[in-house]
Amino acid sequence: MDLAIVLSTPRRGASWPWSGSPRRFSTVAGLDVSIQGDILNLLARLRGELGLALLLITHNLAAARLSTELLGVMYMGRLVETGRTADIFRLPAHPYTASLLAAMPVADPTRRDRSPAVHGEVPSMLHRPQGCEFHTRCKRVESRCRVGTPLPWDIAPGRSVRCHFPLTKGALSS
Ligand code: SF4
Repeated sequence: MDLAIVLSTPRRGASWPWSGSPRRFSTVAGLDVSIQGDILNLLARLRGELGLALLLITHNLAAARLSTELLGVMYMGRLVETGRTADIFRLPAHPYTASLLAAMPVADPTRRDRSPAVHGEVPSMLHRPQGCEFHTRCKRVESRCRVGTPLPWDIAPGRSVRCHFPLTKGALSS
């Protein structure tokens, strides 16, 4: 069985981006949260029973945490951090990842210190920043970041980050 799960609806008339045609097509973006949970649970069960690989593209960090084993975090269309999901949630290495995780909602009504995940605006894709593309919004920016484009490098086995000054390199390699 070919099973494809896509979390956003393609434009009308857009062609399927992969070879072959899927027999099933599912979107959960925009659904009620409880229904999203039901669908993600169903996908987890199908993955286990049918031995499927599941590619989940989402802005929902909780869903990514619950439903994936490997995680890739993207900024402006480029992967800035990859690794095991549990490791990234425990010790994010890229400042963008860390900001996203710090802004995750917590089930505590006394917490009122919610701030935006990342301050500032996403730069235009037509005028991408030089150097590190996140430098215009990064709290850890240094002069090197404005001129030198960081390439992905391995800071631990199975863990890659695109940053000159990752947050957790020392902790991961110790
Ligand atoms: S390279 Fe510099 S600006 Fe870019 S994420 Fe790392 S510390 Fe921040």
